[in-house]
Amino acid sequence: MHTTVSGFIAAHADDAPALGSPTAAWLSYGGLRELSTNVRDALHGFGIGRGDRVAIVLPNGPEMAASFITVAQVAVTAPLNPAYREDEYVFYLEDLQAKALMVMAGDEGPAVAAARRLNIAILRVSVPDGADAGRFELSSDATGQADTAAPGPDDVALILHTSGTTSRPKIVPLLQSNVAASAEHIRASLDLTPKDRCMNVMPLFHIHGLLAAVSATLAAGASVWCTPGFDALKFFGWMRDAKPTWYTAVPTMHQAILTRAGRNAEIIENVPLRFLRSSSASLPAQVMHALTETFGAPVIEGYGMTEAAHQMASNPLPPRAQKPGAVGIEAGPKVRIAHEIEDRLTEGTGEVVISGPNVTPGYEGNPEANAKSFFEADGDRWFRTGDQGAFDEDGYLHLTGRLKEIINRGGEKISPLEVDGVLLDHPAIAQVVTFALPHPKLGEEVAAAVVLKAEATERDIRNFAAERMADFKVPRKVIILDEIPKGATGKMQRIGMAEKLGLVES
Ligand code: ATP
Ligand code: MG
Repeated sequence: MHTTVSGFIAAHADDAPALGSPTAAWLSYGGLRELSTNVRDALHGFGIGRGDRVAIVLPNGPEMAASFITVAQVAVTAPLNPAYREDEYVFYLEDLQAKALMVMAGDEGPAVAAARRLNIAILRVSVPDGADAGRFELSSDATGQADTAAPGPDDVALILHTSGTTSRPKIVPLLQSNVAASAEHIRASLDLTPKDRCMNVMPLFHIHGLLAAVSATLAAGASVWCTPGFDALKFFGWMRDAKPTWYTAVPTMHQAILTRAGRNAEIIENVPLRFLRSSSASLPAQVMHALTETFGAPVIEGYGMTEAAHQMASNPLPPRAQKPGAVGIEAGPKVRIAHEIEDRLTEGTGEVVISGPNVTPGYEGNPEANAKSFFEADGDRWFRTGDQGAFDEDGYLHLTGRLKEIINRGGEKISPLEVDGVLLDHPAIAQVVTFALPHPKLGEEVAAAVVLKAEATERDIRNFAAERMADFKVPRKVIILDEIPKGATGKMQRIGMAEKLGLVES
């Protein structure tokens, strides 16, 4: 098994397609390796090499994918969300100790302004006329002496922040060996081969797209067609052009895709998918069934997180079953419930812990979080995921929620996921997010925000819930919205939802 990023793109056929896009010809593996050499020489010339941190702020697309995979073979990549404002970039660039910022030529936006304020080298990406997808040239006026040694398995390849769903984002360094192991785990669990083609709609400043869509594809010698980012209105036109065998997305994207599927039946029929994949947030059983029916393909739900370089568990491919509501079987690292290790209990719900070659060595500059998150047992180093779950008799992991998101109503613990599941059975409800509402006596009370697809009142919905759940779980408040606010990676954030919706003072 490969232990570095350059290792996993090394062996594929020169003329096999690697990166594609809506506007350029395919970049082959031979072309990608040539680009890697050019980028290495250019970076060394600018004084950037092993151990140096390069923040990447590029629009989603093949240049973003190519810059990640080429820079990671030389230095440390740190992709950042292009939607940040100047002060946010100042914070992240300093936090990361970035030595350089990589942006598109002509970009004079907030990232560049921040880099100027901090006196950080600016590397400009330009795309030659008629270039294959992802091919770019680098220019800069930076100079200096670089460590020109090739990074080894224990060097950091990628630095990301967690999504910040439950607290302030934490810095996660991922080693070359973490990225290579995770790419191989995902490749193996999806049985990717050179014949496969992924259509990437995921943001490439987040682990899901970088690893599942880009790295696993390249580890397989397969191809990835890079869209400029998720757009439900363009999804099926892209699908017609890209002819993917699979795509991966978060549940909110799948839901948006489903609303456009009816009028695109012909494309769905002409571009048969081998499977489609969902990860990063829980996929409601109703959405899974609708996707299976619409695409006539298995829906593979996976369980991922930044600290694991994405994947921990995945539903298996047919002939094994894809269980709705389960995040699958072990698919890379060892996955256990904490009490199996700590108290030798074999049954019941508890915190999910993992150990494997894909797991980060630890948060950067955050000893408190590390002390809470890691422990040693049975000769392994375990990481506490903060997620709660249990295995069923077939070895499928079912998540019951995040420890921090559990609603505590005067001592009664309520899983917001469970309430979501019940409300989604209501015929008028398209999307739902259940969350805690601060309550003066109980501490927390249950509330839900919903998006409707047919007419319903708050009262109808609460009556519906009351017929199906114990009284203490029924949302006291149901808020009907046009759209549910989401974080940068497309996730609905339960924590802080009450403040966001103006239900309490923040
Ligand atoms: P932060 O750690 O900053 O609060 P975050 O945990 O959302 O943010 P990520 O690393 O992007 O940041 O997300 C990992 C989390 O996403 C997992 O710990 C889990 O709670 C959730 N998750 C991932 N896949 C699934 C899934 N298939 N079903 C349910 N939840 C999932
Ligand atoms: Mg997390």
